[in-house]
Amino acid sequence: AAKQRRPHVAFHPTPGMGHLIPIVELSKLLVAHHGFDVTIITLAFSASKAQSDLLSSLPSPISSLALPSVSLDDLPADSRIETTMSVATARSLPSLRDALSGIKSSTNLVAFVGDLFGTDTFTVARELGLSHYMFFPSNLLTLSLLLHLPELDATTICEYGDLPEPLRLPGCVPIPGPDLLHPLLDRSNDAYRWVLHHAHRYREAEGYLVNSFDAIEPETAKILREPEPGRPPVYLVGPLTQKAKAADEDAECLRWLDQQPQESVLFVSFGSGGTLSKAQMTELALGLEMSGQRFLWVVRSPSDGGDTSEAYFSHQSKKDPFGFLPAGFVDRTREVGLLVPSWAPQVAVLNHAATGGFLSHCGWNSTLESVVAGVPMAAWPLFAEQRQNAVMLAEGARIALRPRGAAEGELVPREEVARVVRDLMDGEEGKEARQRVAELQKAGISGLEESGAAYRALDEVTKRWKSEAS
Ligand code: UDP
Repeated sequence: AAKQRRPHVAFHPTPGMGHLIPIVELSKLLVAHHGFDVTIITLAFSASKAQSDLLSSLPSPISSLALPSVSLDDLPADSRIETTMSVATARSLPSLRDALSGIKSSTNLVAFVGDLFGTDTFTVARELGLSHYMFFPSNLLTLSLLLHLPELDATTICEYGDLPEPLRLPGCVPIPGPDLLHPLLDRSNDAYRWVLHHAHRYREAEGYLVNSFDAIEPETAKILREPEPGRPPVYLVGPLTQKAKAADEDAECLRWLDQQPQESVLFVSFGSGGTLSKAQMTELALGLEMSGQRFLWVVRSPSDGGDTSEAYFSHQSKKDPFGFLPAGFVDRTREVGLLVPSWAPQVAVLNHAATGGFLSHCGWNSTLESVVAGVPMAAWPLFAEQRQNAVMLAEGARIALRPRGAAEGELVPREEVARVVRDLMDGEEGKEARQRVAELQKAGISGLEESGAAYRALDEVTKRWKSEAS
């Protein structure tokens, strides 16, 4: 009788809105087009308001289940997000096993899908005899890097940041060492050991579902789409992006955008938890003012200790973020700028006709949302894989402008902020980026339509799940 029931898939994202959001979108497609039921199994410690709002709005038959919380009190206070996610996942394996056995006994569970920092879950899936795949919420550049990491680790003596030449991965834009995935830059840190540990286990996945698409990184796609012995198949299922919610339309910032001329506003936001130093926040503010352009800025309090991922799990500022802006800035920019504390309905903003550019931390979801909305970017990477994304978006996809001389840890001065913002909104470079992003927008959206590449990739993987289970 189990065979006649709808097939069921269980996802287990590691913490972070950037991991959960595309999995929710993928789940909706699995339900709507492929006849699946879905359970999303989350870790309790990442329960922010944004996350609980998202999980409580899931349309049936997508349900969610939070594993009981585990203690992380013994982790050093300066543990990086990759360490925290990996440790929380490892400590939750017993409860994940219970949860999956429960789902398996009550549904027609055909596959388990972990994500990029959750390779330890494969052990549990294997014990339960489940097909185990990986959802990869970033791009093919990052997947390539992680697939090559064990070899890189074995053959590189120095820190990657000191590599004399940019790293050349097959089909990828060359990435200067200091721009590589942030946790790789200190090989003595636990975060590096965790990422390397996962990279060693990547090939245990039976396939990767990657949130990217051909046109944005065509050469890399060409290589990774070809089967390669010993490397699991790659399914390009993106761009998966959240849709604007009807309730967003009431937001004050959208009413403000209604009053602004077409494509005149720069949206400034650093993802679900990115923060700037106090000094950088000052330069950004004064640079925006100096540019003379209109802007809508999602402001968070600056990070005290230089950790730009400080608000990653909470999304909220602990203190009033506006209190950190330069004296008189709010008054002087009242006519052209709007400031929003901590969180904005980003997708609705990007799709508003008044939005003409996005100064972004280059998180992959934000990038795809910008592409789907046809908005060119100014790249302001902070942590995770954002610096290498910025290189790829500027030099490969050519949809982003980069401030000059913005090396890790260096301040971008106000004059350079003003230059990039003017170029993006009003200059020749911005015009080219706008044309390119329009092409990518078209390619990305059509891939998701029936008979499109992403649609067919998902169809192929779901057929595999169904047949492996029967
Ligand atoms: N987001 C949002 N409002 C905000 C900040 C973020 O809706 O004020 C959403 C954004 O639209 C995106 C996600 O949170 O879907 C952030 O994911 P991304 O991969 O860009 O960055 P991360 O948060 O992982 O650094």
